[in-house]
Amino acid sequence: MYWEEKIETMVREDLDALQLARLKRTVQKASESYYYKRVFEENGLNPNNITSLNDVRSIPFTTKEALREHWPYGFLAVPKTDLVRVHSSSGTTGRATAIFHTAADINVWADLVARSMYGAGMRKDDVFQNMMTYGLFTGGLGFHYGAERLGALVIPAGAGNSRRQIQLMKDFETTVIHIIPSYALHLYSLFEELGVNPKTDTRLRLAFIGAEPHSTRTRDKIQELYGVKAFNSYGLSEMNGPGVAFECEVQMGMHIWEDHFLIEVINPDTLEPVPDGEEGELVMTTLMREGMPVLRYRTRDITKIYTEPCPCGRIHRRIERIKGRTDNMMIIKGVNVFPVQIEKTLMNVPGVGTNFQIILEREGYDDIMHIKVEIQKDVFTGNVKQLESLRRRIVDELKNETLVTPKVELVEHNSLPQSEGKAVRVIDNRKD
Ligand code: ADP
Ligand code: ZN
Repeated sequence: MYWEEKIETMVREDLDALQLARLKRTVQKASESYYYKRVFEENGLNPNNITSLNDVRSIPFTTKEALREHWPYGFLAVPKTDLVRVHSSSGTTGRATAIFHTAADINVWADLVARSMYGAGMRKDDVFQNMMTYGLFTGGLGFHYGAERLGALVIPAGAGNSRRQIQLMKDFETTVIHIIPSYALHLYSLFEELGVNPKTDTRLRLAFIGAEPHSTRTRDKIQELYGVKAFNSYGLSEMNGPGVAFECEVQMGMHIWEDHFLIEVINPDTLEPVPDGEEGELVMTTLMREGMPVLRYRTRDITKIYTEPCPCGRIHRRIERIKGRTDNMMIIKGVNVFPVQIEKTLMNVPGVGTNFQIILEREGYDDIMHIKVEIQKDVFTGNVKQLESLRRRIVDELKNETLVTPKVELVEHNSLPQSEGKAVRVIDNRKD
């Protein structure tokens, strides 16, 4: 059993009170770190002045740059001897950041992941194959500890080695997988090649997918191809890693565990809060981490808070699937485009395969969005006229979605580079 009913369904006022008590303690603790001590001094802040949740707004935001500048130990709130583990971010958008944990932090994190998995329907008798990179990346060990906490049998498969993954699934009768969504689509073609049908030849029933933006269409595709229920899992190393926000069995938005994270959504330009239900950048404060508290962290992830309560009964608010990051939003001919918009559009076109690549180029003063799209095998070898009309359809649909007319090139199945980790979608050649 890992359903924490008391915490998950507590009334709002009690959750607010719990958050406030934890916020006070966190700010106090943070003031002992080199970084926050200086920030508080420079801004004339006293941790004792936090008397309401709103008071968090008197504290300046913490940015990824600040974490990078104070690499590695500038944010520690405990002596180094109290630490038991370090993780780091993937470095998707620049230098990685390091996050340190005490034994208590690791324990709390495992509880959160276990709670998330349970909420999505995983149980003690499941066989869990963790197909994420183990090591500094949080997706491997984070889920591993959570699944063990739940009491499941864990296969620490790690990322890659696709043939062995399929073999492990068959031999150990895996029921639950944790997998990067773009890799899940890619792996399916190997299933086909080997003549193994994941629906009938495996015991798979659940998949946790996350670590990168993906559309509902991609989720649906994974569900259809694998015969599983697939749950969106959101996390970031600065807030531990996985176990920050997770879909429940309703599969409509991700509950953010508010007993552990204080959330705000801001307009990334004005830095002012936006009302619930409006899109903005997610900002988070750790409420339970002792080794390295992080206050008002600008995640750069774009989402919004659902205003309606979830039918599952959990009180913790839900966020919409992440649209992308402010720093991988492409500005093409002055128009804002997120890679996930391209993904969503392509995945809806019959005949399109599972992978694509966006290459941004500049011709004269003009931005060109060049998109290479993998096409399903049988379609690619088919009639040239049909291929050209498929290409035109893709151009039109992408133009409708993004307002930019792309240059589309259809390429052979499995011909584009495939990452075992987070997909690399965009190559920007516009920098002079
Ligand atoms: P990095 O920030 O260098 O990629 P992390 O490994 O900490 O390092 O990754 C966290 C980031 O991954 C998040 O801030 C977010 O942009 C992305 N991410 C994680 N889970 C999801 C998800 N379910 N949907 C969309 N994006 C996600
Ligand atoms: Zn729910």
